[in-house]
Amino acid sequence: MAERVLQGVAAAPGLALGPAWVHRGDAPGPSASAAGDPAAERRRFQEAVAAVDRDLERLQAGADPQAREILGAHRLMLADPELHNRVEAGIARGLGAEAAVQEATEELAALLAGLEDPYLRERAADVRDVGRRLVAALTGRAVGLRLEAPAVVVARDLAPTDTIGVDRRLLLGIVTEQGGPTSHTAILARSWGIPAVVGVPGLLEQVQDGMTLAVDGETGTVVLEPAPETARQLEERLQAQAEARAREQAEAGLPAETPDGRRVELAGNAKVPGDVAAAVERGAEAIGLLRSEFLFMGRSAPPDEEEQYQAYAEALRLAGGRRVIIRTLDIGGDKGIPYLGLPREENPFLGVRALRLCFRRPDLFQTQLRALLRAGVHGRLAVMFPMVSTLDDLRQARAALEEARAALAAAGVPHAPAPEVGIMIEVPSAALIAHRLAQEVDFFSIGTNDLVQYTLAVDRGHPELTSLYQPIHPAVLRLIDEVVRAAHGAGKWVGVCGEMAGDPLGALLLLGLGVDELSMAPPALPKVRRLIRAVPFREAEALARQALACGTAEEVETLARPMLERLAVESG
Ligand code: PEP
Ligand code: MG
Repeated sequence: MAERVLQGVAAAPGLALGPAWVHRGDAPGPSASAAGDPAAERRRFQEAVAAVDRDLERLQAGADPQAREILGAHRLMLADPELHNRVEAGIARGLGAEAAVQEATEELAALLAGLEDPYLRERAADVRDVGRRLVAALTGRAVGLRLEAPAVVVARDLAPTDTIGVDRRLLLGIVTEQGGPTSHTAILARSWGIPAVVGVPGLLEQVQDGMTLAVDGETGTVVLEPAPETARQLEERLQAQAEARAREQAEAGLPAETPDGRRVELAGNAKVPGDVAAAVERGAEAIGLLRSEFLFMGRSAPPDEEEQYQAYAEALRLAGGRRVIIRTLDIGGDKGIPYLGLPREENPFLGVRALRLCFRRPDLFQTQLRALLRAGVHGRLAVMFPMVSTLDDLRQARAALEEARAALAAAGVPHAPAPEVGIMIEVPSAALIAHRLAQEVDFFSIGTNDLVQYTLAVDRGHPELTSLYQPIHPAVLRLIDEVVRAAHGAGKWVGVCGEMAGDPLGALLLLGLGVDELSMAPPALPKVRRLIRAVPFREAEALARQALACGTAEEVETLARPMLERLAVESG
C-alpha cells in the first residue's frame, strides 16, 4: 500500500515507528439499556459509582504523582452532585442506569467543551472518561489499554485513565483523532517522554490494527505504511534520537562546571509535584521554582491546607533531599482564577497580583504558608515570594510567614521553623534596591519573564510585540548585573528562573554576569549543561562585560552568537 501522510497537532516530542494498535474502547456502548424499576436502576448506579471509585483508588496507589492527580480529579467528578442529579433525573424519566449515565456525562462534557478556557474545554474528555468507566462497570466490560506487544496506540480520543494502567515499555507512541495539546493524555505523554500527535482528522477511517505508523511528535505528522526510503530515514532518526538520549542520560550526573572551574547550579522549574521527578531525571540539582498557583487552577475552589500540605510534601519527597524553592501564590496578571471572584482590572499586570493579592486575602496566604511550613519537615524547603517591588513588600511577607510559624508552634504542629527565604527579582524597582533587599533574604531568583516586560514596557504575551520583547536587551542585562553585584556583596546567592535561563544565548550571558544558579523547564537542562561545560568562564565574563556596554539587543546578539555557534560545534 502506498505511503500516506496525515497531519495533526504535535503534542509530545519524539519519534516512534511501529505497528498500530487501535483502541476501540471508546466506541459508544449500549445506548439504551432496558430500564428496570427506577429504584433498582438508582441502586445499580450507586453500586457502579462505588465500584469505579474503588478501581480508581486502586490505580492511584500504583500511579506516578501526575497520574495520581488526574485519578484524584476523576474521583471528584464521580462524586459531583451535578452528575448524580442529572443521572437520577434521567432514571426518573424512565431511562436505564447506563443510558442515564451516558446522557448525563455527554451533557456535562458538551457544557465544558463549549467553554472559552482551553484547559476547561479539555476537561470534557475527563467527564466522558468517567462516564465510560461507569457504563463499563454497569455492563461488566473492561476499560483501559491492554497492550501485549510494542505498539503505537491509535484512538478517537484516548481517555486519560486508559493511559494510566498501561505498560509503558510497550507504548511506543500515541495518535488520537481528537484532543488538543493541553489534554491530560498530551500532558502525560510529555512527562513520560512518549511521542504523541493529537487532533488528526479522519484517523480512524484510515488506520487498521497492525499497519505500520511513524509518529513525529515534533511536527505533528503521522505516516501510514511508510515507503522503504521513508522508513530508512526514520530508522536513522530513531537511532540518532536513541543516541542523543543515551548521551543526555550519561551526562545528567555531570556537574555544570566550566573548563576553568566555575560551578553553576542547574535546577528545574515545576508546576505540579509530578514535574519534580522529570527534572531530577534530567539531572536537576534542585528545583529552582515550583509555581504553586498551578495547584489552584482548573478547579472550582482553592485547595485546603491539607491538600496543599500533601502536594508540597510530595514535591519535597520526590526531590530526594535537593532544595525545592516553592513560590507562594502568583495569581493575577495573565493567571486568573475564576472562583476567587477578582474584579476586572484595566492593567492586570500592574494590578492586584501575587503578594498584593495575598496581603488582601490573609485567609489564602496563611493557609498556604502553614501548609508550606508543615511540608518543610519532609525535605529541604525554601520559600520564595513573587513580585516584590518594595522593601515593605518583603517585610510584610516575612511577617506573614512568621505569623504562620508562630501559630503552628503554639498549636504544637510539626513544621520547619526556619526555611531559607528568598524573593523573586522581577520588577525593576526591586532590582534597583537589591543591595537593601539582599540584607533581608537568603537568596534572589531573577524572574526575567516579568523583568523584561516591566523594563521594556512590553506585555509578555502581546502577539504583535514579540520582536520588542528582548531578554538580552542591555537594559535588562544591566539590571541583572546590578542584582548579581548586590547579592554577592551581601554574601547571598542569586539564580535566574525565567525562560532566559533555559535559552543557550541567555544562559551564556547569565553565566558571564556571575549568576550562581539557572533554573529552567527540565527539557532544556541537557543543552545548558553542555554549554556550561564547554565555555571558559573568563570568555563568558568578557562577553557579558561587552554586552553591558551595548545599546541594543541586536548588538548583543551580534557579539554573542558567534561564540555560541563555535561552542556548539566544539561540544558536538
Ligand atoms: C518570571 O517572571 O520570570 C517567572 C519565572 O515567573 P512567571 O513566569 O511565573 O511569572
Ligand atoms: Mg513572574
